[in-house]
Amino acid sequence: MREYQICTNCVMDTTDSAITFDEDGVCDHCRDFEKNVRPNWHPDERGRAELEAIIERVKKSGKGRDFDCILGLSGGIDSSYMLHVLVTEFGLRPLVFHVDGGWNTDIAVNNIQKLVEGLRLDLYTEVIDWEDMRDFQLAFFKSGVSQLDIPQDHAFVAVLYKFAHKHGIKYIMNGGNIATECVRNPLEWLYYGTDMMFINDIRRRYCTRPLKNYPFSSVFFHKIYLRYLRGVKVVRPLNYIPYTRQMAIETLRQQYGWRAYPQKHFESRFTKFLEGYWLPTRFGYDTRKVQFSSLILTGQMTREEALERLKEPPYDPNTIDDEFEYIAKKLRISVDELRRYHSMPKKSYKDYRNQEALFNLGAKLLKALGVERSIKR
Ligand SMILES: [Zn+2]
Repeated sequence: MREYQICTNCVMDTTDSAITFDEDGVCDHCRDFEKNVRPNWHPDERGRAELEAIIERVKKSGKGRDFDCILGLSGGIDSSYMLHVLVTEFGLRPLVFHVDGGWNTDIAVNNIQKLVEGLRLDLYTEVIDWEDMRDFQLAFFKSGVSQLDIPQDHAFVAVLYKFAHKHGIKYIMNGGNIATECVRNPLEWLYYGTDMMFINDIRRRYCTRPLKNYPFSSVFFHKIYLRYLRGVKVVRPLNYIPYTRQMAIETLRQQYGWRAYPQKHFESRFTKFLEGYWLPTRFGYDTRKVQFSSLILTGQMTREEALERLKEPPYDPNTIDDEFEYIAKKLRISVDELRRYHSMPKKSYKDYRNQEALFNLGAKLLKALGVERSIKR
């Protein structure tokens, strides 16, 4: 076991087992950000001009069509604010879709509705077959790994590319952003949701149904076929304009009556349980460390404030029993069974067949080509 150490600049620590520190105790997430990301990040006049040029191309690609781009709305802050900006400031005509995996919180449903109504847009909702979703999620519980959000995440990506393909849309607007996500979850915590070899191994061992209605998409289809052969491009608009969490919450609240969530990704009740309780208590992975570190590096939170907030548990001890009951009931298992999965021996994606080597090679290639700035690890 490695001795505990926390970065002197952010709040990432040795619960990320691959973290490294320099002689000043600064971690590799911080060093990577300063070296590769910050110098190429221009959320100012320069970024705005670049974004305007991109928007022109997006509009041109949509001439004579119903939509000029596509955007997935989770109900979270990033995608909501991005939609607001693209429609009200840039006049884009996005196909807005939402994937209903069965775990929407009431706040999320409300937020999505208010935003779409306020902007007078149509919403395409794709409801995932619940029996398939349930079986797939239970398979991940049975596997013992930490990547329990793959069934939700993968469906989102698959539906996105399905719609883009079906409607001949060339531009995907992605809410991913440096301001709130520059420190990324280590692969050990949240592994690639599009590794079909890993997913299929889990399915083969633990699924009880063939998941015929669940939307699967291989990384080779969406990254290689759609992106390189059909010219589909992904744009991250929030990286070109001034963007902070607080500003987004305020704008959305004032203009749409949008309500904030207690923590990033808590728009899904399942993810709230996973990131708020399951990952920190079973694996020691507290995703707030990643989120707060991103805010520290981009000047939206002080390290002291982050440390203070990390003293509180990530879940509410008063409601966690109810939460356990809700999740178990929804998955149609007993609370005892769910607790058994919580205490079973821990497994890693490395215990299953996977294509990590191939993904890493792809990531290195994209970095060498200048497409990606930093490598996920
Ligand atoms: Zn750091």
